[in-house]
Amino acid sequence: MSLLKIKNFFYTLYWRYTHYGFHSMWTAIKTYFLNAIRKIQNRVLPPRVECPCCGWKGYGFRYLDCGWFIVPQVECPQCCGHERHRLFTLFLQRTPPSFLSGNLQNKKILHFAPEHHFRKILNKSGNLFLFSTDYAPSALQQVGNPRFVADIHHLPIKNGSFDGIVCLHVLEHVKDDRKAISELERVLSAEGELLLMVPFMMDQKETIEYGAPRSDIFDHVRGYSPLDFKKRLTMFDYKEIKPENLLSTREIHKYKIPDSQVLYLCKKRVVHN
Ligand SMILES: [Zn+2]
Repeated sequence: MSLLKIKNFFYTLYWRYTHYGFHSMWTAIKTYFLNAIRKIQNRVLPPRVECPCCGWKGYGFRYLDCGWFIVPQVECPQCCGHERHRLFTLFLQRTPPSFLSGNLQNKKILHFAPEHHFRKILNKSGNLFLFSTDYAPSALQQVGNPRFVADIHHLPIKNGSFDGIVCLHVLEHVKDDRKAISELERVLSAEGELLLMVPFMMDQKETIEYGAPRSDIFDHVRGYSPLDFKKRLTMFDYKEIKPENLLSTREIHKYKIPDSQVLYLCKKRVVHN
């Protein structure tokens, strides 16, 4: 560990203590030591898990510091993919959405906060027009054109423009998620598919608004409950894709995808006159 890293680590601990209290600081310390042990385990113990995004195999994925709790078996040490990236990669490989499996000519796809972990699958299709967008220009530096900076509350896009939208772990960061969802519905074509995921707080009976971005938990502005999130999707016909819908029990353990990971495949609701 370099001197700069040590300095940053202690500054993080001080900052966590002063902003969120002792428990938050203790969570950061525990995560650090658990991951130090995990690093050794991955060097000396036989592989038990596998990352479908990059092919890495090892004893276990890294622990994730979530502010006041720690989630085990989350981050791939090689590609930094999380559970959602693993589930989404397997979904694209096994049950591709219509914009990947049907006639690929001239399909337009919009990818929010573009993650690199499954881009090669989207790019491989060749004939797609794959657009990338984010509110922060820095998030678009690593992706090719076409790309544009936009506010999800007010997308500079005509109605029904996109045949596919990929929006994973974005809504927990935005001020008005209902407005954002209505924008996603507006820019989706009549036959288009929106692929949506949010992080769930599995012990919450209802979604909690934090009132401001919580910097100890990745700047989330709310914590979604799996029990009430679906109420936000009433403007769509949607299907829930859970790990057990795609994977065997053995595969769920191998890829370490917990039941908190749910992919929503949403289509515009058909209005009958
Ligand atoms: Zn990986």
